[in-house]
Amino acid sequence: MIPVNTPYLGGKEKEYLIECIDTTWISSEGPFVHRFESEFSTFVGREHGIACCNGSVALDIAVRALGIGEGDEVIMPSFTIISPAASVVNEGAQPVLVDSDPVTWQMDATAIEAKITSKTKAILVVHIYGYPADMDPILALAQKYNLKIIEDAAEMHGQTYRGKPCGSFGDISTFSFYPNKHITTGEGGMVVVDDPELAERCRSLRNLCFLPHQRFVHEELGWNYRMTNIQAALGVAQLENIDKVLIKKREVGRLYNQLLADCPNIELPPEKIDYADNVYWIYGFTLSDEFPHNAKWVMEQLGKHKIGTRPFFYPMHLQPVFKKRGWFENESYPVAERMAERGLYIPSGLGITKEQQEQVAETLKEIMRHA
Ligand SMILES: *Cc1c(COP(=O)(O)O)cnc(C)c1O
Repeated sequence: MIPVNTPYLGGKEKEYLIECIDTTWISSEGPFVHRFESEFSTFVGREHGIACCNGSVALDIAVRALGIGEGDEVIMPSFTIISPAASVVNEGAQPVLVDSDPVTWQMDATAIEAKITSKTKAILVVHIYGYPADMDPILALAQKYNLKIIEDAAEMHGQTYRGKPCGSFGDISTFSFYPNKHITTGEGGMVVVDDPELAERCRSLRNLCFLPHQRFVHEELGWNYRMTNIQAALGVAQLENIDKVLIKKREVGRLYNQLLADCPNIELPPEKIDYADNVYWIYGFTLSDEFPHNAKWVMEQLGKHKIGTRPFFYPMHLQPVFKKRGWFENESYPVAERMAERGLYIPSGLGITKEQQEQVAETLKEIMRHA
């Protein structure tokens, strides 16, 4: 079996984990948490990092901290993981969707302005798969209409937009450290901000909104979304290797592009666009319209050859959970729909070897040629 992802834990992970055990610091009070917050936020070029237990709850904190709630609208891509939409909906606000760019797969910045209303509070940017969203026009709109930017950079540790780090653009930006991300803590996430008051608010929301000088007294409700010292120990070790990780990711992507250059009926991801080099968080591609089968079929064939795959995201406007509420009726986002139907990704984790990549590419070509 070639799994779709295997993480890399070959740095000081073991050493730091043993330190947690030896010192008995295992809760969120341990020293690795601050160290990880400080080192990671510096890496992203932000003033403050607030570590939490995963990337989804980092978005919960971001949305609540900005005061987004009942009656507010938040513009986001239809083509995304559910987490950003869930965070907005759980606060009682309404997601408003835009389609994606067919080449970069990022939210279509040119489609945003038409969706802005008097209720719009924020644009929730989600950088997806390999490239950042086109930030300049999005930031210009935020300025023009006085909107907040929430930046979901869960897949973008170390990626840049016109040379500036992803995660440095939002009023609040968030990361995930799930094992398929460039840096993993098993489960984990982080909110990064510059504004000290906003940072304090995020810290409070993460920790049940205990009053600083009157523990067990609460003026509002938060969550226990804390990260443990054990998770943070992994994070510190992982961050030490981020440069190597980014090199490896790009090597994996480029090698697949070479190996699959002569594969019929697939559209390969571009290696670079004008504002960024592809970081290939996952190596994904779409099947051409001429190909008679969809992504599900190709995934089944690869599965028979013991090659792990994942489908692309399923668009928000088609999600049963939102359709039940009568949302997004008569809305269509053809690029998002096409990516969901015709997109998939193949093994591209940090643990993959060149030989495995060759085997995956050969098998895929065989399947595509004989379909
Ligand atoms: C992984 C991911 C998340 C969720 O992070 P978890 O840590 O798995 O909760 C959110 N947004 C994007 C874009 C992601 O890729």
